[in-house]
Amino acid sequence: MTHAPAMTIDSIKRSLVGLRMPRALEVLDATLRRIEQGETDGIGALDQILLEELTLRENRRVKTALSMARLPAIKSLQGFDFAFQPSLDRNRILALAELKFIDRAEVVHLLGPPGTGKSHLATALAVEAVKAGRSVTFATLADLIASLAKAERDGTLRERIRYLCRASLLVVDEIGYLPVVPGGGNLFFQLVNARYEKSAMILTSNRGFAEWGEVFGDPVVATALLDRLLHHAVVVQIEGASYRLRQHADLVPEHVRSKALITPPPAPKRRGRPPGKATSDHDNG
Ligand code: ADP
Ligand code: MG
Repeated sequence: MTHAPAMTIDSIKRSLVGLRMPRALEVLDATLRRIEQGETDGIGALDQILLEELTLRENRRVKTALSMARLPAIKSLQGFDFAFQPSLDRNRILALAELKFIDRAEVVHLLGPPGTGKSHLATALAVEAVKAGRSVTFATLADLIASLAKAERDGTLRERIRYLCRASLLVVDEIGYLPVVPGGGNLFFQLVNARYEKSAMILTSNRGFAEWGEVFGDPVVATALLDRLLHHAVVVQIEGASYRLRQHADLVPEHVRSKALITPPPAPKRRGRPPGKATSDHDNG
C-alpha cells in the first residue's frame, strides 16, 4: 500500500475546513489508516467520508426542523403498539406516513377518546414529514387561537396567518378538550380558509363533528369550518381503550370506559370531487 504524501493530506484537511466539513475532517485519519491496511480502497474511502458528513448534516437539519416545528415530544410509528389499538388500520397509518396527503393538501382527522394515541400518531407523522424535508408547525387548538387573538390585538393578524400558511403541514392538536374562547372559532376559520386546498393539516379531536358547534361555541362557524375541513379529508377513527390507563383499566368506572365520545357525521356534501377516489374520505379505519 502506498502512503499518501503528508502535503496532500494537509491540503485535503485545509479543503475540508474551508468547505466546513467537520465530520469528514474528523474521520479522515482513521479512513486513511484503513486504506493503508488494505481494508478499503480510494473510492470506498471517499464514499465513506462523504456519507459521514452527509449523515451529520442530515441529523442536524432534522434536529433544527423538529425544534422549529415545536413538537411536544418526539414520537415514532415504530414506537406505536398497533396491537393495543385493534380498531386502527395499521396499513392506513403507514400509507399516511408516505406523506402523499401533504402533496394533495388533504386534511387528516384523528378522532377518538383520550389516551388512544391521537397526539402520538399526529406527532409521528409530523416527524416523518420533517425527515422528508417538509416544513411542519404543531400547536394545540387553544395555543393556535391564543396566538391568532394576540396577532389580531396587535394588528398583525394577516402576517400571522401568512406565517401559519407557510408550513406544508399544520398539526392542530386537542380540538374539543377546552372550550374555544369567544371569537376564536372565527380566527381559526380564517386560518383554515387561507390554507384550504393549498396545504395539508392533521387535526386531532376527542369530539365528534356533530359536537363542533358546541366546541366552537358557534354552529355557523362550526359548519363553515367543517365544510372546508371535510372536503379532501381522511378520517381515522380510533375506538379503543386509553393507553395511559392500560395498567389500571379495572379501576376506571365502566361508564367512563365505554362512553361513546365520537358520533360520526352524516357524509358531507362534496364539491367537484370524482366519486370513488381511494385513500380519502370517511372510510373509517
Ligand atoms: P391522545 O392524544 O389520544 O389523548 P396520546 O397520543 O397522547 O393520546 O397517548 C397518550 C400516551 O400513551 C402517550 O405517551 C403515547 O405515546 C402513548 N400511547 C398511546 N397509544 C399508544 C400505543 N398504541 N402504543 C404506544 N404508545 C401509545
Ligand atoms: Mg392528545
